[in-house]
Amino acid sequence: MKLKERVALITGAGAGIGQATARKFASEGATVILCDRNSQMVQQEAQALNADGHSAHAYTLDVTQREAIDEMVDDVKSKFGRVDILVNNAGITQDARLAQMTQEQFDKVIDVNLKGVFQCTQSVVDTMIEQKSGVILSASSVVGLYGNFGQTNYAASKFAVIGMTKTWARELGPKGIRVNAVCPGFIETDILKSMPGKVLDRLRDQCWQRRLGSPAEIANVYAFLASDDASYINGVAIEVSGGMSL
Ligand code: NAD
Repeated sequence: MKLKERVALITGAGAGIGQATARKFASEGATVILCDRNSQMVQQEAQALNADGHSAHAYTLDVTQREAIDEMVDDVKSKFGRVDILVNNAGITQDARLAQMTQEQFDKVIDVNLKGVFQCTQSVVDTMIEQKSGVILSASSVVGLYGNFGQTNYAASKFAVIGMTKTWARELGPKGIRVNAVCPGFIETDILKSMPGKVLDRLRDQCWQRRLGSPAEIANVYAFLASDDASYINGVAIEVSGGMSL
C-alpha cells in the first residue's frame, strides 16, 4: 500500500473526482479526511469507507470560508497529529461567453477554484513545514493549459492554480514538501452536466482515446503523485486527458 499511515485531506470529496480520490487513497492505506460543502454526501461517503474497514472522517467545509478551514485543520491535527497530503480538488463552473459573464459568475468561480486553493494550502503549510514533509496537489484542468470557449472565469482560475503550484514548488521544495497540479481532460462527473450533449460528443471525438475519462483514472494519478513513487516530481502540471491536446 502506497499511502500507509499518511493523513490525507481531500476537498470536494463528496462527489466525482474527489470521491474517487478518497476511495483510492483509503485503499492505499491512508487515513482520509473528506471535506465538502455538501454535508450529506461527504458523511455518506465516509460511512461507506469506514464500513469497508478504512479510516475515513467527514467534515462539512466550504473552501471559501477561511475560519472554518483553520478550525478543521486544527481539529485534524489534534486528532491525527499531522497532515501529510492535501488534495485541493473542490471546484465549480459558471460558464458564459465573455460578453455575457456577470461579475457574480466571475467572482464565484475565482473564490472557490483559486482562493479556496490558496486558503486551504496556507492553512496546512505550517504543519507540513514543521513536519519537514508533505505533498500538496491541486486540481487544474486542460482548460488551465489551453483555455476554453465560454470559460473565462474557470480558465483564469485553473491557469492560476498552475502558477501557484510552480511558485509553491520553489518556496516549499527546500522544506521537504512537493507541490504539483493535475490537469484532467473531460471526466464523467456532475460538473459536465451543464455541457450540451453535442459539445460532449465533440470532446469525445477530439480525444485520441475516443472517450471521456473516469474519476478513478484521475484518482490514480493523485495517488501516484502523493506517494513516494513520485519523490522527485515537483512543480509540474500533469495533463491526464487521453491525449486530447495532441
Ligand atoms: P463535481 O462537481 O463532480 O464534484 C465537486 C465536489 O466539490 C462536489 O462534491 C461539491 O459539493 C464540492 N464543492 C464545490 N464547491 C465547494 C466548496 N466551495 N467547498 C467545498 N466543496 C465544494 O466535480 P469534479 O468533476 O469531480 O471536479 C473536481 C475537480 O476537478 C474540480 O476542481 C474541477 O474543476 C476539476 N476538473 C474536472 C474535470 C471534469 O471533466 N470533470 C476536468 C478538469 C478539471
